[in-house]
Amino acid sequence: MGHPVTHTTRSRLDTERAHFRIGGAWQAPCGGPGGPYTVVTDPTGRGAVGQVPDGTPEDVSRAVAAARAAFPAWAAADVATRRALLTAVATGIREREADFAEVIGAEMGAPLDNALHAQTRLAAEVFRSYADILAGHTWEERIGSSQVVREPVGVVAAITPWNYPLYLAAAKVAAALAAGCTVVLKPSCDAPLNAFLLAEVFADACLAVGAPGGVFNLITGSGAVVGDALASHPDVDAVSFTGSTAAGRSVAAAAAKTVKRVGLELGGKSARVILADERDGRTVKDLDRAIRVALADAFFNSGQTCTACTRVLLPDAVYDEAVALAAAEAGRRRLGDPAAAGDHLGPVATARQYASVLSHIERGVAEGARLVAGGSAPRDRIPDGLDAGHWVLPTVFADVTGDMTIAREEIFGPVVCLMRYRDEQEAVRIANDSIYGLAGAVWCADPLRAERIARRIRAGLVTVNNGEFNVLAPTGGYKQSGIGRELGVHGLLEYMETKTIQW
Ligand code: NAD
Repeated sequence: MGHPVTHTTRSRLDTERAHFRIGGAWQAPCGGPGGPYTVVTDPTGRGAVGQVPDGTPEDVSRAVAAARAAFPAWAAADVATRRALLTAVATGIREREADFAEVIGAEMGAPLDNALHAQTRLAAEVFRSYADILAGHTWEERIGSSQVVREPVGVVAAITPWNYPLYLAAAKVAAALAAGCTVVLKPSCDAPLNAFLLAEVFADACLAVGAPGGVFNLITGSGAVVGDALASHPDVDAVSFTGSTAAGRSVAAAAAKTVKRVGLELGGKSARVILADERDGRTVKDLDRAIRVALADAFFNSGQTCTACTRVLLPDAVYDEAVALAAAEAGRRRLGDPAAAGDHLGPVATARQYASVLSHIERGVAEGARLVAGGSAPRDRIPDGLDAGHWVLPTVFADVTGDMTIAREEIFGPVVCLMRYRDEQEAVRIANDSIYGLAGAVWCADPLRAERIARRIRAGLVTVNNGEFNVLAPTGGYKQSGIGRELGVHGLLEYMETKTIQW
């Protein structure tokens, strides 16, 4: 058992964690079970929801050694065994989906429907998608006298953030295991509890299919200590990181010392281009729906989505009407308790994030943008009894120009910037005027024109109209949004080496 913490959570789940999952066993940190730990707090201000141990470089070495020990057997495992493990994990997540949703909601504030669908079920779908991919893919090709084969890269360190903690871990872990790699997962200290449930699911799944327990190892602790030790560890072959661009740079620098493979999924400041009819240049088909879709995207998960299109680019002719529609729509959205079902917004996940979002809003006002909805939440908009939470109202800025801080920096809160443009050329220029290139969106009645614009946006994922997210298609960043791709076959290849055998 860990340290005594005064819990205010309603959970019957084990949220006081004192052990890592290493080599198929629950193991106390090298310094013993009473060592340093991190308290996980509830963003609604209810208090502590659990605790996890703080690992050390020594703990990291132990976890890496366990992953290394399991690697030969897992790399040699046949496709049927790999598929069986991935399927068992997907099934295990679904069987415990209520537990996952409860824990994720408590630790990072996602409202119940979001926590269940976008966080938990999506993660299960990713595991299942890799079981399907393994069934239908051949990994070898003949090029002249050469046979080109693919082999797993080895031990993978997966370092993940708090915003979609389970899903983003699944994108790495499922792809790496499908490729035949073994994994050490280090989740964010702000939302690590769901990863312990995942480790429990893995424990059962490994036993059920006869996979070595060391294929999946879990260690917690700070980025500066545990994350850095993983990224620089000589026996880690690849590090896959999702998080901020600043931390991604550190990970890449640490990994460079041993020239290990690096995958980076970083920040974004994506643009949505809403286009007027090409002939009259004055009307936007379904403008009110375009605005509703834009705000739903920007406010989902309280704006804490790396691919959110938080710059909405509008043609001059409809700009004023669009601003009024956006202000009204933002005003209709409600804040609410994450434990409740519904489409309300939860709090911002951490105190640090809350301060940063509020300071960006202040900066927007100071630099001359027009605040037409939102800002920090007044008492009467905060759910009853949760005054101490990190509440930010759905916020809309109009008259945002490209030089403003709020147009350039990722805010990672429910804040949307409405920008105006004169013509298609200018819209594309503004969309691409960013150090980031993670995502984009185009709203246009003409599919050919929409595709033309989508092709000109320098980003890894562009959504046309209300296009659906596809777990089989790759996502990832151009420019400072990252290196490499996740999901689908493309995501799997990130964890493989290519070998030519020639005669
Ligand atoms: P963060 O960068 O602070 O932390 C992410 C993870 O990295 C955590 O596990 C953290 O402990 C670890 N870490 C921090 N510093 C480290 C270091 N020097 N070495 C090794 N590990 C380190 O990010 P966050 O605040 O948890 O998440 C928010 C950020 O994540 C946003 O910028 C968002 O855009 C980005 N994000 C990107 C994607 C994507 O797919 N591109 C998806 C989700 C979130």
